[in-house]
Amino acid sequence: MKKLYTSLLLIFVSFGFFLSGCDNSGYTSPNEQKVLLISIDGFMNEYLDRNETPNLDYIIANGVKAEYLEPVFPTKTFPNHWSQVTGLKVENHGIISNSFPDDSLGGRFSYGPPEDSPNDERWWGGEPIWVTAETQGKTAATMFWPGSEASINGVRPTRWVDYDGSLDNYARVDSVITWLDSAGNTDADFATLYFSHVDSRGHRYGPNSPEVDEAVVEADNLIGYLLEQMEEKGLTGLLNVLIVSDHGMAELSEDKIIFLDELIDLDDVSVIDWNPVAMLQPAEGRKEAVYNTLKENEENYRVFYRDEMPEKYGFSGHYRIPEIIMIADVSYSITSRSFFEDRGIIAGTHGYDHTTPEMATIFYASGPDIKQGETVPAFSVLDLYGLMAKILKIEPAPNDGDINSVMGVLR
Ligand code: AMP
Ligand code: ZN
Ligand code: ZN
Repeated sequence: MKKLYTSLLLIFVSFGFFLSGCDNSGYTSPNEQKVLLISIDGFMNEYLDRNETPNLDYIIANGVKAEYLEPVFPTKTFPNHWSQVTGLKVENHGIISNSFPDDSLGGRFSYGPPEDSPNDERWWGGEPIWVTAETQGKTAATMFWPGSEASINGVRPTRWVDYDGSLDNYARVDSVITWLDSAGNTDADFATLYFSHVDSRGHRYGPNSPEVDEAVVEADNLIGYLLEQMEEKGLTGLLNVLIVSDHGMAELSEDKIIFLDELIDLDDVSVIDWNPVAMLQPAEGRKEAVYNTLKENEENYRVFYRDEMPEKYGFSGHYRIPEIIMIADVSYSITSRSFFEDRGIIAGTHGYDHTTPEMATIFYASGPDIKQGETVPAFSVLDLYGLMAKILKIEPAPNDGDINSVMGVLR
């Protein structure tokens, strides 16, 4: 009996295989399609053109490239990654920088070793795509993403790991491939993958350095390895690969320094974040005096009251945003005399106005749902959430993205 059952099963399975084998369009049934969202942190839009990147070029030739991807303000890692997966403006999700205080939560949000990582869901406003997916019957798996270690609305990705920057990049790819493998235990519909080495080299050596170019080539090799592994596991016709980054990188200069303590008395403010966006909470009764002084000396930076921030920044409506915001012009650093004398400055940074060309970043994608060989106009990181929900055929939570801006990406 058992033998008969096994033979029937085999016939059934082979028939299924035959059916899908006959479909040489590479297009599988719509419900099976998967999304892999990859972030190569700090990948400036212009890095592609000045490097040999055969694997990224292959993705683009067989898929879509956006002229650029526009980050949100401030162009820092945590606000941007969280906007990418929630579709929310920073003022609507509250991750206002990589590190900031919230007295109502009795502490400071900051990243670091796992024991410091802000796993408490009260820091994170909005619903990330993996929660939208999990609550609608899909399976999500994250190989690092800011926010993926926290449970949100009590939900976590089926697979997730505490951030470990020392984990080998190829091992990250291996795990994600195992999770996405349709024949594996997880059979994830959605996964993330994150690499930080391009950003780290950009900070250390500057965006125009040979070290950054090497890092870009390493990232391209990783994508090549991913494509090989996808082919081996039969994922090529099933998986939509979206490659993004969170911001670009700007070269800094010792001649372009704004010394905050030479402009104002630091006792008049609490500096929530320094560089290149100084977020200042004025002491009781000092708001106008601080603002007026900064305004009178407004050179190589712009200063705003929180409540007068131009709309484009999406950076006024959250209680965590302090009352005065000072944005350095690209390549300028905001620091104090003593900090500068002790530590100098690094070679590159980001955080500046999100509409500057230096902060522009990338979107490359290919897969069964993605058009082939097209360049689409620039769009915002806010639009990625809706795009991913569309591909996964799940109902998106309310968000600030515009799905019409990204429909050109889809077949
Ligand atoms: P930034 O300081 O804005 O350049 O951010 C880049 C750095 O953020 C990386 O080099 C990592 O050290 C850190 N990072 C990225 N993702 C995570 C995460 N999920 N948890 C903790 N730290 C992270
Ligand atoms: Zn970053
Ligand atoms: Zn960085």
